[in-house]
Amino acid sequence: MMQTRVLVTGAGGFIGHHLVSYLKKQGYWVKGVDIKTPEFSETDADEFELLDLRKWENCLRATREVDEVYALAADMGGMGYISVYQAEILRNNTLIDLQTLEASRRNGVKKLFYTSSACVYPEHLQLEANVTPLREQDAYPAQPQDAYGWEKLYSEIMCQHYSQQYKLETRIVRFHNIFGPYGTWEGGREKAPAALCRKIAYAKLSGAKEIEIWGDGEQTRSFCYIDDCLKGIYKLMLSDYPQPLNLGQDRMVTINELADMIMSIAGVQLQKKHVPGPQGVRGRNSDNNLLKQVLNWEPEISLEEGLSRTYPWIEKQVYTKLRG
Ligand code: NAD
Repeated sequence: MMQTRVLVTGAGGFIGHHLVSYLKKQGYWVKGVDIKTPEFSETDADEFELLDLRKWENCLRATREVDEVYALAADMGGMGYISVYQAEILRNNTLIDLQTLEASRRNGVKKLFYTSSACVYPEHLQLEANVTPLREQDAYPAQPQDAYGWEKLYSEIMCQHYSQQYKLETRIVRFHNIFGPYGTWEGGREKAPAALCRKIAYAKLSGAKEIEIWGDGEQTRSFCYIDDCLKGIYKLMLSDYPQPLNLGQDRMVTINELADMIMSIAGVQLQKKHVPGPQGVRGRNSDNNLLKQVLNWEPEISLEEGLSRTYPWIEKQVYTKLRG
């Protein structure tokens, strides 16, 4: 039997890089595309091309001779990034998503997996730290906080219309804060778990007594470890479920609690200095009822376990950097 050929866009990024390795282990022929190569380790892809998917001819080239596409490429980052570069994010991601989908259709791709986000949910449902978990249907009437979320919502709709009108099946996932090793940990695009691991590692290695936390630290989120994310992606791709589906943990913690957990893994006690900074919505959690129903599964790696696999990797990066 011919090996199924898949394309992973964003294969130089955090989730895309891990996904390439995961799909290789499942026996696929994998092509990776990104504007950058993976930063922290070699790709396992059979073929890796540097292509800017904002350009139509690159989208056509990337999707040629593949059976399935995992569309992960996006201009994205943590709150410090997406709250500032809104126009750029909206423009870049619209170009990437629209053209990847259309090029996939033209090239006869059979199935496309689209990576949306919990950022699609309305801001007014996320005003309290003790928020009610968000169900998929809560996305409408729409009022995402940022341009990033609006673009994801638009692309979700586009995927659904493409699969209705054409012979291109689509699967849509809404990730809730995925974290793990081999992800961005400095430079401005990193998200809360990586940023906190970095701050704590710097303090530990330099002997500093405190770390800075954006806001009062009482904002809440749920966090999902990368290995669960990969399993969920694959299960959803193999399912016949065409609507958007949450993929995340449903255990909510405050950012202060997250920092405490990381400090305990690092073996340090530091003061938390609360400073002004972008915090995103006040509270967010995933309602996993539909996920459990559709996939007969839910993420199983605890936050403590995920952090204990992530922190040592970030501490090592910081150590290497400090040594110059
Ligand atoms: P990431 O930033 O590490 O990966 C995205 C990759 O897309 C990067 O390597 C980037 O270089 C690439 N890219 C950007 N512009 C491109 C272009 N013009 N052409 C080709 N490639 C381009 O982010 P990630 O965390 O791995 O996220 C993967 C996907 O999951 C994204 O679509 C993101 O929006 C979505 N998502 C992630 C999370 C999370 O918690 N990490 C949450 C919600 C949604």
